[in-house]
Amino acid sequence: MEGTNEALRSRLEQAGIRFTAQRLEMARILLSRPQHLTAEQVLRMMNRRFPRASRATVFNNLKLFAQKGVVGLLELKSGVTLYDSNTRRHHHAVDSVTGNIVDLELNQALEKRVFAELMQEYATVTGHNLAQSELQITLRGRAK
Ligand SMILES: [Zn+2]
Repeated sequence: MEGTNEALRSRLEQAGIRFTAQRLEMARILLSRPQHLTAEQVLRMMNRRFPRASRATVFNNLKLFAQKGVVGLLELKSGVTLYDSNTRRHHHAVDSVTGNIVDLELNQALEKRVFAELMQEYATVTGHNLAQSELQITLRGRAK
């Protein structure tokens, strides 16, 4: 059901995104499996079925999908933005040699404790509290 046209279509509609054939194909590309894609990769994959889908249309739809929560965003240190098929709260491990990215789930209670401790540490160091309430852990290293 996950990847069927009907499921994808209803996911777009639930997000308040008007359905088009191109948007359905984009949703299929992005959500068919756990992955993190650049806008360029999505454009190339789109052009296999829609050779005339323009860069502007694809990039605008990606922004829309991200705004509406159909995909997540992952900003890499390099400045590259990736579109993430996983919209649940999660963390990442990045292999610094291959660039391979893996989603990691952290036990919620542990995550809460780590977050509280980091917020406390931030307040101690800066004298300010952070209004932002997001914890994003990225492990970097080389797979051995
Ligand atoms: Zn992810």
